[in-house]
Amino acid sequence: MSPPAQAEVLVVGAGLAGLSAATRLAASGCDVHVLEAGRHAGGRLATERIDGFVVDRGFQVLNTGYPRAADLDLDALQLGWFERGAVVRVDGRAYRVVDPRHRPLALPALLTAPLGGVREKAALAAFSVLRGYGPVSALQRSPERTAEQALRSAGVGDAALERFLRPFLAGVLLESDLATSSHYLDLLWRSFVRGAIGLPAGGMQAVGEQLAGRLDGERLHLGTPVHTVAPGAVSVGGSTLRAEAVVVATDPATAARLLTTVTASAPREVTTHYHVLPGSPWPSPLIVLGQPDGRLVNSVVLTDAQPRYSPDGRALVASSSLARTAERDVREEVARAHDVTSGDLDHLTTITVTGAQPAAVPPLRLRSPVDLGDGVYVCGDHRDTPSIQGAMASGARAARAVLRRLRPSRL
Ligand SMILES: Cc1cc2nc3c(=O)[nH]c(=O)nc-3n(C[C@H](O)[C@H](O)[C@H](O)COP(=O)(O)OP(=O)(O)OC[C@H]3O[C@@H](n4cnc5c(N)ncnc54)[C@H](O)[C@@H]3O)c2cc1C
Repeated sequence: MSPPAQAEVLVVGAGLAGLSAATRLAASGCDVHVLEAGRHAGGRLATERIDGFVVDRGFQVLNTGYPRAADLDLDALQLGWFERGAVVRVDGRAYRVVDPRHRPLALPALLTAPLGGVREKAALAAFSVLRGYGPVSALQRSPERTAEQALRSAGVGDAALERFLRPFLAGVLLESDLATSSHYLDLLWRSFVRGAIGLPAGGMQAVGEQLAGRLDGERLHLGTPVHTVAPGAVSVGGSTLRAEAVVVATDPATAARLLTTVTASAPREVTTHYHVLPGSPWPSPLIVLGQPDGRLVNSVVLTDAQPRYSPDGRALVASSSLARTAERDVREEVARAHDVTSGDLDHLTTITVTGAQPAAVPPLRLRSPVDLGDGVYVCGDHRDTPSIQGAMASGARAARAVLRRLRPSRL
């Protein structure tokens, strides 16, 4: 159905930010329509089926420690869970580093893992306790620096930094210099300490589809790219659509093109190679971290966490690099990560996402303004943190700002 010529609110973009804003506005009685350029709801959370396998557009996970995860019906997503921890390989040997709060029997292995001495491990534990359970306000008042500076000054030591923290965080931040803001690291680490990470049975796109399902179908207009935005109007194809409020919820680069007052920070890129193995080589679902001299930041048997990603019990492996690698460049490394031969691996597909996340380097403004004036609003992960949490939180903030203007009595 075509969008109406006049609506109370138009939201441009059906990623998690736009959908979070739109569902809140609809729940408050606003006449809201969402205009989405692509063919699916969920934006960067996109999933396709290849030979029966559920393949996300790049390896990503849902972290239930994000405050905005409370907005989702997690049961309906039928999440399959990763264990909290990772496999670290040193000189070819695999060490399982698992959070002992959930697996007390894993404590001896953790204490003997080659991640530094007792003092360094205690420093990492203290860093985690402070981030996980300290007040957020105190964390955010601490001086901002880079993630690496913050970890070094916490005393975690070189071994833990290079073998565990750098590859683990590189896979999340999509940069390996750990130049990201320590204030973002604090929030991210808090979510890892407080939550679990999982994959929905239907793939990550199911998260966006769940939010979209809360809107009446005729309010979401797929395949509808917006060309220009002005106060009270957007242009779509050859037509102008009018609205009392316009919320731009696109990716950062498009937001900067549509809105002259918005600037986009550098985009982070990631390439993910998907392989099929006859079965999983591992006893439990853990991410295998890349090695300091390798090209991969991580490699993971997705079906260990979420068996529904496979049509027939074979294992689906996702291996990510920050450089744009070819499959032949990483095949041996993927095999070594899982202790299989490269002949066991069937290459399914390789996906590069160029604008996966905006950079979040210091000085980072954790909550950039969403109300640009004249009835124009902006949200998206570039307004908060480059994450599912940041996208959803910015959408919630934009909805509140719109309601302040249109429905002050509902706040
Ligand atoms: C490979 C990868 C791994 C990631 N891993 C994680 C992870 O593990 N954990 C985590 O928290 N985050 C992760 N992220 C980041 C997270 O996915 C994003 O931060 C979040 O989804 C951004 O949502 P958004 O709504 O701000 O933007 P988007 O999802 O980009 O949504 C913007 C929407 O606007 C639409 N649009 C663009 N231009 C127009 C236009 N002109 N007209 C109409 N519509 C338009 C787009 O099609 C899109 O649907 C990852 C991202 C990628 C790509």
